[in-house]
Amino acid sequence: MDPLIIRTHFEVDYIHSYKQDTPFFHGLAKRKLLGSHCPKCSYTFATPRTRCMYCGGATEWFELPSEGRVHSWTVCYYAGQEFMKDVPFTLVLVGFDGVNTLFLSRLIGVERADMRIGMRIKSKFRRKATWSVRDVYFVPAQDFS
Ligand SMILES: [Zn+2]
Repeated sequence: MDPLIIRTHFEVDYIHSYKQDTPFFHGLAKRKLLGSHCPKCSYTFATPRTRCMYCGGATEWFELPSEGRVHSWTVCYYAGQEFMKDVPFTLVLVGFDGVNTLFLSRLIGVERADMRIGMRIKSKFRRKATWSVRDVYFVPAQDFS
């Protein structure tokens, strides 16, 4: 017996708020990558956080360096529907000097064979903001060291 397949049309406008993370996305639109810093214990996050995960203190925004290093990477050969047209693509965990956590982003412009842990990369921003984390991506820093 063949499986029963039913087609149902489904469409919805999904409206959501970035709430406390809103400054992060405004930062991307201004070509700034913002992290969060805890003034109480000095822990720094490469991601938006309103509260420190160590001491619970309120965090403050700061601008991350434009350059970082590849901490780890993977090549994605499968993705959700929105990104299937882009496969394969490279995801990197970016480490920044003086920052305690990593930032997940795309790396563009490096062949898989040329990927290296520790390679220097720099942030780039879309010209027109889409108000998503895709507004920032990384490319190799010029000297590859
Ligand atoms: Zn803290």
